[in-house]
Amino acid sequence: MSRTLTFARGGVEPLDFKSLTSHLPIANAHIPAVAVVPLLQHSGAPAVAVVSPGDRVREGMLIARADGFRSANIHSPVPGLVRDVGDMTLPDGGRCRAVTVECAGEFDRSGKILNRQPWDGVDAATLNALVAEMGVVGLGGAGFPVHVKYAFGTDRPADSLIVNGIECEPYLTGEHRLMLEKPDEIIEGSCIARKITGARGVVFAVAENKIDAVAVLREKIAEKSLPFDLVTVKAKFPQGEEDLLRHVLREDRTAHHIPPGTKTIISNVGTIFAVYEAVVWKKPLIERVITISGSAVVRPSNVKARIGTKIGELFEDCGGFREPPGRIVMGGPFLGAAVTDLDAPLTKLTTGLIALTRRETASCADDACIRCGRCVRSCPWGLSPTILVKLIKHGRTEEAVAGGLNDCEECGCCAYVCPAGIPLLAYLRKGRSWGRMPTRDGAI
Ligand code: SF4
Ligand code: SF4
Repeated sequence: MSRTLTFARGGVEPLDFKSLTSHLPIANAHIPAVAVVPLLQHSGAPAVAVVSPGDRVREGMLIARADGFRSANIHSPVPGLVRDVGDMTLPDGGRCRAVTVECAGEFDRSGKILNRQPWDGVDAATLNALVAEMGVVGLGGAGFPVHVKYAFGTDRPADSLIVNGIECEPYLTGEHRLMLEKPDEIIEGSCIARKITGARGVVFAVAENKIDAVAVLREKIAEKSLPFDLVTVKAKFPQGEEDLLRHVLREDRTAHHIPPGTKTIISNVGTIFAVYEAVVWKKPLIERVITISGSAVVRPSNVKARIGTKIGELFEDCGGFREPPGRIVMGGPFLGAAVTDLDAPLTKLTTGLIALTRRETASCADDACIRCGRCVRSCPWGLSPTILVKLIKHGRTEEAVAGGLNDCEECGCCAYVCPAGIPLLAYLRKGRSWGRMPTRDGAI
């Protein structure tokens, strides 16, 4: 077994709370009676509705078409009647159009025997067009349309495809369960992604805290005699971030070494599974695996849920709350966003729903910097968060930009380690939006 890799500078090793759900098989969430489906669930242009109120839709039918190349199709998660096409507020405060579907009638896919589609003899461009047609986007949280990412492979083939099974955010275990429960599908999805991108090599990167998944994948790779590599990386945050992962594999001087200047494409395990379903079963992206966890939840779980399901209903599937939560986070606790509206829908971007108690989320006064320097030492990008935040607080955004604000990946490590409880990440996000910096979603 090879050594465990990691990045050298910064990062944090928080309590991960994964044992709440890592042993629990993925269960099916209830089918929503009403699904509210936002038309912006990806980075890029919102999709444009192709249905109107009163229309009947089938399960998996196209309800909004991608608007241009960097956009993604959206499909109906349930069969039924379109009740509304209107504006909605997204959990992050942004506005977009949404299609509301009242569930009724027969399901075309669920519970039916489907025909497996052969893909071996199909060319890469046709496979990528199918991935686009099925609305597959990156399921790690950024939502970059996968066909756009993979299309670069058609101009210049990728040297390596990295399958990211790190899932470094605390609490989240959906991808861990996918690797354990669907290893054949993930291996086949990787073969499809490799064909589309033209990648010569495939490297699985899995965190050391998923040693059972490492064993299963190694066994499957050997069983199929595939020329795939598998590396274990340290369970450290934000190890799964794409630039850091690339850097770690480039720095490594063993067999896994990926030389600088070579082209790598990274897809996380959930995305690879969606690519598999899109190509092999012609299945649109109408549901996804998420983790519902946190001390305030009665029965933390891993569930497969339909896009458009209200998050309050998903918490009810898990027995509801033990006590009124102090904060609900959509995504992981580092990169996720706080939500206050339990009627907000699950989207393709939702990796988890975490409900924390009031005690866990109690905040401190935010003017008590003790100059300990921990935030500086924790930053994987070598920034000085305490200085940046002081500049932002005083409206000196241009100076903050000159000090590297634009390089901030909003990973939240600095806020996590701050003993004074200063909400550094909130200030950094505010400063970045004032300076109209590109977000991490804007990066490929
Ligand atoms: S949030 Fe920004 S400043 Fe803070 S540790 Fe992460 S990259 Fe560095
Ligand atoms: S970690 Fe917090 S208290 Fe320490 S220097 Fe940074 S901002 Fe100040």
